[in-house]
Amino acid sequence: MPTRRAILNSVTTLLVLAFAAPVAAHSDEAIRVVATFSILGDMAKRVGGEHVDVTTLVGPDGDTHVYQPTPADARAVSEAEVLIVNGLEFEGWLDRLIDASEFDGVRVVATHGIEPLPAEHGAHDEHMEDEEHDEHAEHDDHGMETAADEHDDHGDHDHAEHDDHAEDDEHAEHDDHAEDDEHAMHDDHAGDDDHHAHDHGAFDPHAWQSLRHATVYVDNIAAALSKVDPDNAGTYYQNRAAYVDELEALDAEIHELVAGLPEGSRTVVTSHDAFQYFGHDYGLSFIAPQGVSTESEVSAQDVARLILQIRDLGIRAVFIENIADSRLLERIADETGAVIGGTLYPGALSGPDGPAPTYLDMMRHNATTLAQALAP
Ligand SMILES: [Zn+2]
Repeated sequence: MPTRRAILNSVTTLLVLAFAAPVAAHSDEAIRVVATFSILGDMAKRVGGEHVDVTTLVGPDGDTHVYQPTPADARAVSEAEVLIVNGLEFEGWLDRLIDASEFDGVRVVATHGIEPLPAEHGAHDEHMEDEEHDEHAEHDDHGMETAADEHDDHGDHDHAEHDDHAEDDEHAEHDDHAEDDEHAMHDDHAGDDDHHAHDHGAFDPHAWQSLRHATVYVDNIAAALSKVDPDNAGTYYQNRAAYVDELEALDAEIHELVAGLPEGSRTVVTSHDAFQYFGHDYGLSFIAPQGVSTESEVSAQDVARLILQIRDLGIRAVFIENIADSRLLERIADETGAVIGGTLYPGALSGPDGPAPTYLDMMRHNATTLAQALAP
């Protein structure tokens, strides 16, 4: 007996034929996935495994804020079945790239469903001990913006086999959302006016700096891959579950690492304002001469104010970033007598031989670098 999903797929297949849309990969071919930057690329590989062929636009040590897409990027996007983006205005160059590439696949906004922090965090000198975010309340929507359903050409396939999978509950839950239209998803935010204010820079885009939010990223990616390639949905959700276990274990590890730091040495100076989510989760405060984008200008006043703060707060270490010029921070360290505590990875992985070749490595590296430098 055909399942609801099988019927839906049959209908989709007819639509595909009717509109002569491109035929998607069969389940034995890797899905072509494009991720805008290295962290998303790593997550996509973890969830997709051998079933995905991932192209990353902004590579290791690259600065996504100021990236300039190439013609090769436009080609990769035009051929992609799934495009994974961070959202929250992180990829300011994205819309032009999509227009240029005539992308018609499934776009995943990885941050969809998180509770974003405002770009102007405001309370830099205090620990963020406000209300616990109820991320579960928002887990139900997956940031898929489906340009068209033509990729779902598996209508002739019997999906009943998935019903036997242990993760069926979860899978079924996600399937219920597969036919949600875009508007239904956005309506989830209807109760919160702030979520409609997606003006440039309204929110801090660096949500991957929270391992809690990373779980939402992974959920969104798993849902999108399962939608495009339902035959392998069981594998995607198994991969997701194993990965989330690792994310949660690392989260606990970092909590333990940071718990030992004295109250007086929990303020951290970095180059740009990329660690508010990390600070929020672990009770650290981050201050930076530059705002949430590396595009923003640093004035002499900003630097002077930061130097005063470093002296006032007795901050002993400042941290440089893999994606940014370190000269300003070196000058600030010189002027204040603070030491360079190490290199943090705000928004790009290292190359394979560096300390942060994967997202998990990156988060662990940042946490241990901070804890070592801030420990008494
Ligand atoms: Zn950044």
